[in-house]
Amino acid sequence: MVMHDSRLAKIESEIRGFVRAFYPDMVVRTEYWEKDPSRIALFFIDERFRALYPRQRYHYLVNLIPKDYYDSTLADTVWFELTPEQSPEMVEDDPDEKLIASITPDVMAALQEKGFFAALDEMFCPNGAAEPQECSGDFRYAKQALQLCGFEESDWSDVFHVLMGQGAFCDCEILYNAATESRLKTQYWQRRSHDKRS
Ligand SMILES: [Zn+2]
Repeated sequence: MVMHDSRLAKIESEIRGFVRAFYPDMVVRTEYWEKDPSRIALFFIDERFRALYPRQRYHYLVNLIPKDYYDSTLADTVWFELTPEQSPEMVEDDPDEKLIASITPDVMAALQEKGFFAALDEMFCPNGAAEPQECSGDFRYAKQALQLCGFEESDWSDVFHVLMGQGAFCDCEILYNAATESRLKTQYWQRRSHDKRS
């Protein structure tokens, strides 16, 4: 039996309103959480989540929802961010935060030493005649850069959770927020200062 009441229906339609512009095809579903029916479970289902880690999915979603609405209505809700064929059990848990914090200095040093940031910067801000890439809101180019620099695919999850811990949730944010220096970041600030002068 599907329990559905007006409270759930209202939250569903309000959330659809918040995410529609960014995720026009997203399915939003609410129900009383199976494991604790005093709490509401929110299901966000979208094909575009496919290449994203759960933490990235959450990051993009939560930024679309006004903070006062979140605080007043969603603070106690349980979120599931899924691709169309995923069930909640299929989503891997985020790695332990303490573990990520403990490996962060070594991972950042290894990325720097093996030239990862420079390789990614070269894609977005090429020195030569190559066309600069544009960020797609995922890590597709960072994955290529990791491969170029000799990182194994088994390292990806650790590397990206370290980078997300530095505030980098997509390729360009790696260069803006995690890299100590990048041509992309320099260019950005140069443009900003030109904008102000004009
Ligand atoms: Zn980006």
